[in-house]
Amino acid sequence: MSQPLVVANWKMNPQKLKEAKEIASVSDEKNVVLCPPFVFLLEIKKILKKANTGAQNCFSKKRGAFTGEISPLMLKEAGCKYVILGHSERRELFEEDTKKIREKIALVLSVGISPIVCIGEKRKSRKNEEEVKKQLVGLLKGTSLKHIIVAYEPRFAIGTGNSCPLDVAKKRLFFIKKVLQDIEKKGEKTPVLYGGSVNAKNASLYIKDAGFQGLLIGGVSLKKESFSKLLKNVTK
Ligand code: PEP
Repeated sequence: MSQPLVVANWKMNPQKLKEAKEIASVSDEKNVVLCPPFVFLLEIKKILKKANTGAQNCFSKKRGAFTGEISPLMLKEAGCKYVILGHSERRELFEEDTKKIREKIALVLSVGISPIVCIGEKRKSRKNEEEVKKQLVGLLKGTSLKHIIVAYEPRFAIGTGNSCPLDVAKKRLFFIKKVLQDIEKKGEKTPVLYGGSVNAKNASLYIKDAGFQGLLIGGVSLKKESFSKLLKNVTK
């Protein structure tokens, strides 16, 4: 089996380039994708020997008068192989909706970057399979899934320390694969990552027991020792 993909979402951290470089140097593994803030992308890319880089977002147009925005073409130029799209913080704090995220997915694919498309229910409730389906269909129906990565991130688990119970995550993975297969014949082959309060202890459970193809890590990806431990645990 190939190594699980581990995507590190640094969010708006760290504040200093020196620290960013230190974190990157202990995270430099082939199966890792580091997603630093935009301003650190070029410098981080320079010091990596094995890991890839990704962005945490991008704009839905290639070029033009869009003050303050970053184009996927610029990300390509900076060496990014991936872009995280539709993260719950983007949806909630920046009011990104399905239409906007769909536009970004299409544009990112058109420049040869793989979108890491985040989905996940808001609350623990009986209805949440339907919520997950609605998000997947809304974002991906009609799109080729060939270069897409899906990240299942139940919102109640993000940054809370309360990771999704393993049996629920496993059930959800099965359901997501089924929906992806309905969207496209070979859709079940689309890699699905788990994200939400993953740490060095629970990381391998989501890979080995629940069957996810990788992880999307927030908080712990900034902690050098814990992240190194996590990487060891998921690859051994
Ligand atoms: C995230 O923000 O995508 C995330 C998974 O965060 P954390 O690992 O801190 O829960």
